[in-house]
Amino acid sequence: MQQMQVACETCGAELVANAAYCERCGARTRRARRLVRIAIRVELLFFLLVVGIVIGFTWIYSVQR
Ligand SMILES: [Zn+2]
Repeated sequence: MQQMQVACETCGAELVANAAYCERCGARTRRARRLVRIAIRVELLFFLLVVGIVIGFTWIYSVQR
């Protein structure tokens, strides 16, 4: 289990529990950065899925002709 971040890494200000941003300087917390990384990965996976479907259908149509 990851330890809860209690202070801003940039300015050292105390953070609200589960905060995504520092209230003083606006820096992202570790938790928010991790969520952003997960979101990017999910988006990339979805994009690859769509590309795979398009390539698959293109191949099917070229085989049928
Ligand atoms: Zn800060």
